[in-house]
Amino acid sequence: MRIEADVPLAHCNTLRLPARAEWCATVASGDELREALDFARTRRLALCVLGGGSNVVLRERIGGCVLRMQLTGEELLEEAPGHVRVRVAAGVQWHGFVLACHRRGWHGLENLALIPGTVGAAPIQNIGAYGVEVQEFVEAVGAVDRASGEALRLTHADCRFAYRHSIFKSELAERIVITDLTLRLPRARGPRSDYPALRAALGAVADPSPADVLEAVMRIRRERLPDPAVLPNVGSFFKNPVIGRARFERLRAEHPGVVHWAAGDVVKLAAAWLVEQAGGKGMRQGAARVHERQALVLVNEGGATAAQVLGLASRIATAVRERFGIDLEIEPAVY
Ligand SMILES: Cc1cc2nc3c(=O)[nH]c(=O)nc-3n(C[C@H](O)[C@H](O)[C@H](O)COP(=O)(O)OP(=O)(O)OC[C@H]3O[C@@H](n4cnc5c(N)ncnc54)[C@H](O)[C@@H]3O)c2cc1C
Repeated sequence: MRIEADVPLAHCNTLRLPARAEWCATVASGDELREALDFARTRRLALCVLGGGSNVVLRERIGGCVLRMQLTGEELLEEAPGHVRVRVAAGVQWHGFVLACHRRGWHGLENLALIPGTVGAAPIQNIGAYGVEVQEFVEAVGAVDRASGEALRLTHADCRFAYRHSIFKSELAERIVITDLTLRLPRARGPRSDYPALRAALGAVADPSPADVLEAVMRIRRERLPDPAVLPNVGSFFKNPVIGRARFERLRAEHPGVVHWAAGDVVKLAAAWLVEQAGGKGMRQGAARVHERQALVLVNEGGATAAQVLGLASRIATAVRERFGIDLEIEPAVY
């Protein structure tokens, strides 16, 4: 295994921030992961785990050891008439896996197509899009304890999934490395197509097949989201705020047009609407700016630094707080 010193990471994050790692280990097997953890432990180095780098803001200098997760492989655990159970390694590319499942008639993940990044990161923020979250299919998560090297297996209940959240962002943050994901995928599932933007894209297709949904999701995403390879970004920079009903009614009395979705007892607010209304769309800081069509997406025009991106995010959050009294939470992890 290669463990190198002073490694540039600009090509390892989709915002193309010019970070450098004190140490960087590229991990492609269980043995290499153990070796890298030993290396960090004996030198008392902090660890930063990177998958595809599509949900991180990397500061100029990352002290300690960056682990680039490149574990690959897949194991079919069960093939039943109605479903399959498959274990897939953390370093596998998420979108490629979604396409491979779809081709084999394992359904459900079509709504999550074209989300950049790796399988191992998917449960961390419980990736979601077009009315579906990955947690619906997660049976278990395999991991290794960073301190002891012990292998762990977390059940769905252990993961405490919520909107863009899981135990991996709270109690287990910085304590484990995810090695694999076990998913249970239905073989005959009517696809989920009730999400408004998806429904609109499906147009006259009344009873869409999984292939129709896959095609529509990929079309919408290609039309609406800037491609990080062309305009570096990390997708949505802010989460949609979730507030209680009473607070929502007070907000709506003042701002009748507030875009929202009811979610049981609580209400989810469209962060993009809040940012636009607070004047976020024209904002920029250095080479970081708000995308002209997607108010939630901050882009690097070329040469932006983490300080510029985070400074811009902080000014947007202040503008939203001053206008609506709502706190925005950022989605990417900052290192
Ligand atoms: C254009 C674009 C569109 C996007 N659309 C969506 C969307 O629709 N829905 C959505 O939910 N997200 C979306 N994202 C965000 C991002 O793609 C996902 O969060 C993805 O799961 C991140 O994967 P990654 O491998 O790149 O993780 P990274 O960015 O490398 O890491 C993200 C976090 O996970 C940790 N991590 C990564 N791998 C491991 C591991 N094996 N073990 C322990 N910790 C790990 C990292 O330390 C970091 O804290 C989008 C991003 C972009 C650029």
